[in-house]
Amino acid sequence: MARKRIIAGNWKMHSTISQSLDYIQTFSSFDVSDKVYLAVPYTAIHPAANACKDTNIVIGAQNMHPELKGAFTGEISIGMLKEAGAQFVLIGHSERRHVFKEDDSFINKKLLRAAEENFLSFFCIGETEQQRENNQTKEVLKNQLTLGLANISSKQMNNIIVAYEPVWAIGTGKTATPEMAQEAHSYIRACLAELYDDTIAQQLSILYGGSVKPDNIAELISQKDIDGALVGGASLKPDSFSQLVKNSG
Ligand code: PEP
Repeated sequence: MARKRIIAGNWKMHSTISQSLDYIQTFSSFDVSDKVYLAVPYTAIHPAANACKDTNIVIGAQNMHPELKGAFTGEISIGMLKEAGAQFVLIGHSERRHVFKEDDSFINKKLLRAAEENFLSFFCIGETEQQRENNQTKEVLKNQLTLGLANISSKQMNNIIVAYEPVWAIGTGKTATPEMAQEAHSYIRACLAELYDDTIAQQLSILYGGSVKPDNIAELISQKDIDGALVGGASLKPDSFSQLVKNSG
């Protein structure tokens, strides 16, 4: 079975409600025929999800807490996200890991919660520049996969997309070469075959993220194991993001 091509945008802490609605209106006017995923700020989820009801834009969140409710000031639960209209969540994004110090075990709890709730997760992994320079890329990826996916069943893997995002390439303008990205993706698939089986490894979508732009997406996506992209900066403007989606086809 051919894997679906998936393009997702991560707006990070950008866009108020009105800016999000303006974006959606402009993006929709560009007639992008492919489905796209947008991880928007929490405040924009509900209005954006309403505005996207009859479109091919799927709205999601950038993070969530693993508990269903409780004394977790400033946090958000999966039930809140679902009721607001989110259809997916990013888990383990490098900014959560490195700026907010989230570790693999906390990320695993979030993945387990999303899996239990049949909610789609984009599980982000990737090595730092130092780890790549020390030849630790494979070890880091294997560890993040093994710890992050602990106790996630084969069936629950249907609701998980992996995003390989080398930390040194996020928001820096430095993109992994298509060959470097392909090597990492093929290794991730081998790890998934070890953790689960060949069928799961072959069916699971693995996205590349890290300074993806309209002019480098085609070459990245032409690689055998790259099934799409998670895009930060270039998803912030509807014209560049729609061009990127078109160039990925
Ligand atoms: C990201 O935020 O996941 C990302 C890949 O950002 P950028 O495209 O800006 O590097």
